[in-house]
Amino acid sequence: MSLIVHKYGGTSMGSTERIRLVAKRVAKWARAGHQIVVVPSAMSGETNRLLSLAKELAPAKETADYQRELDMLASTGEQASSALLAMALQAEGMPSVSYAGWQVAIKTNSAFTKARIESIDDKRIKTDLDAGKVVIVTGFQGVDPDGNITTLGRGGSDTSAVAVAAALNAAECLIYTDVDGVYTTDPRVVSRAQRLDKITFDEMLEMASQGSKILQIRSVEFAGKYNVPLRVMSSFEEGPGTLISLEDEDQMEKAVVSGIAFNRDEAKLTIRGIPDQPGVAYKVLGAISAANIEIDVIVQNVAKD
Ligand code: ADP
Ligand code: ASP
Ligand code: MG
Repeated sequence: MSLIVHKYGGTSMGSTERIRLVAKRVAKWARAGHQIVVVPSAMSGETNRLLSLAKELAPAKETADYQRELDMLASTGEQASSALLAMALQAEGMPSVSYAGWQVAIKTNSAFTKARIESIDDKRIKTDLDAGKVVIVTGFQGVDPDGNITTLGRGGSDTSAVAVAAALNAAECLIYTDVDGVYTTDPRVVSRAQRLDKITFDEMLEMASQGSKILQIRSVEFAGKYNVPLRVMSSFEEGPGTLISLEDEDQMEKAVVSGIAFNRDEAKLTIRGIPDQPGVAYKVLGAISAANIEIDVIVQNVAKD
């Protein structure tokens, strides 16, 4: 018997019919003798819907008070999907209980809309697992030291799942999504992309940081740090998926390209004729940083053309 964490993305939780399918799979795993913790995302489209309602009411008010309310609002999507999944499991005859992030508690810092997980109290989850229940923990959210609800950034349920798996010392964290694994590049864009059987944390981190949005980058960092094996697999069809784990020894010497990532949302700015003097880079980059503009890549090039 082992403890396994399942994470289901928005598409997998997208309707009551799909939630019922998730419940059937989870119940099957639990009946096979595993202890199962499920971390669901909000139903697909729900987080976007909530955030667009906020925009209608307060289009440009990016104050700290506003950010706090954004998290209060966006976190409700996961609370709803978690409760629905618990009900669906109960309907399958499988005892189940759902918890919001603050009830567990998943403690984070106070950086609203992009909070970082600092600790997870595993007591409540363990007691329920030992009592034979499937435990559902909302993805994407936590609670800050002042008791405010926080969220972990878009795609943050991946990170919730990995953090819960690390805290519980789970044998594996299964990321169920709408593709059947990690591909050499986004299969929705390149139809010839190929599924990878396995990939290392470092390679996945590189792909995530270059814009591949299959996993939130923080979840990969976390999985590498605590050595939580991740498996990305389809919620809709059976298959081995892609295992993400530590370096494979016989692969170590091989220089291989594992995949190609891309970002559609990138601006490029070239500044020419900059004198090669100390302090000049600071003059340029300091001003950009003061304007809160994030730079992804800096290329310093001597050639004019
Ligand atoms: P979920 O809602 O389950 O979290 P996401 O939409 O966040 O799902 O992530 C899954 C999507 O990631 C896929 O539908 C696919 O279009 C995209 N994707 C981007 N890069 C890759 C890749 N290298 N391999 C597989 N999927 C990728
Ligand atoms: N529901 C959140 C989002 O849409 C978190 C997630 O799906 O991982 O970003
Ligand atoms: Mg996602």
